[in-house]
Amino acid sequence: MDPGSGLDGQRDIHIRDGVVAAIGTELEADAAIVIGVTGLIVTPGLIDVHLHLMNGLGAFGVDPDIFGVGSGVTTVVDAGSAGHSLLTVFRNYITKNAKTRVLNYVNLSTLGGVTGPGYGILADPRLVDEDKIEKAVADHHDIVVGIKVMATGGALGAEGLKPLARARRLGDSLKLPLLVHIGESWTKDATPPPIAEVLKYLRQGDIVTHMFTSHPGGLLDPNGKLWPQVREAKESGVLMDVGHGLHNLNFDVARKVLDQELFPDGVSTDGHRGNRMGPVYDLPTTMAKLMALGFSLNQVVEMATVNAARLLGRGAKLGSLSVGGPADISILRLEEREWMAVDSQKGTLQARQALVPIYAVRGDTVYEPLPMEQP
Ligand SMILES: [Zn+2]
Repeated sequence: MDPGSGLDGQRDIHIRDGVVAAIGTELEADAAIVIGVTGLIVTPGLIDVHLHLMNGLGAFGVDPDIFGVGSGVTTVVDAGSAGHSLLTVFRNYITKNAKTRVLNYVNLSTLGGVTGPGYGILADPRLVDEDKIEKAVADHHDIVVGIKVMATGGALGAEGLKPLARARRLGDSLKLPLLVHIGESWTKDATPPPIAEVLKYLRQGDIVTHMFTSHPGGLLDPNGKLWPQVREAKESGVLMDVGHGLHNLNFDVARKVLDQELFPDGVSTDGHRGNRMGPVYDLPTTMAKLMALGFSLNQVVEMATVNAARLLGRGAKLGSLSVGGPADISILRLEEREWMAVDSQKGTLQARQALVPIYAVRGDTVYEPLPMEQP
């Protein structure tokens, strides 16, 4: 199932020297290793666009291979653990040591995830250093896919919307999208900027993450209607990402947003050390929750492959299978069974299909899922 190329059917795939050598029906099984996947779902390598992967950093940082190849996912993207000064550390100790492809949104704040959530990481103008971010992005342009901005009252503090204006100018000059966190989930005594104000700083290709948050600062007004600016932003090309996480997938909010026909562009776990054992678990489970909300398997695979690749600006290289391209493949089992999906507020939803990771393939290596254990 490759929504990027429109392929949906029973095929054989030959992989040679880490490259897709052939896709066809009844290819001769002359390979050194034959993996029987009859009845399973074979997709381009799944991409999880929002996680916290600086293993050992604070309460969040988790080994990328747990939510990556250990969950049937071949590409994972860290959302702002590193500020500019930690990008080299991120590359040398996280990206280089992972079996999963690990990309990065550099944090607008020099502090990044060092302090953990709930601190005013943008509340002092000295905590944003455009020159140093530009230099670090130039040094690490192969892994940096955008700039992470916390649009919460807790993070912005007395600076208000000024850091968003600085992020806007930086995004324009670096030609990188902004990944903007909405939802006042960690700092309950702070007031978030209204979404209408935040969206003024976003352009085509920028991403709003936590679109289904029930915390203040979300997409819905007090009457449960989408703020009109949200639809305008979507129509102008601003992308919407799920970002499940410990706090920010709420089924009631999701239903209201979806009923008003605003749909996600990307699906992501916001996976970290503190949500692996629930409510998040892994990307296939998050995809299955969207299926319980009414999306088809093809739609959630599209979100996690070709859409995610485009969102990262990597549409030419990732997210679709092609002969001559790298072998970057996920293999899942679609199970027809009843299970109770649980959201970030312990809301429940009866699901009738489950998605279970079976293998992740990167190059000529096949990875089996890790056991579901506390990381
Ligand atoms: Zn996050």
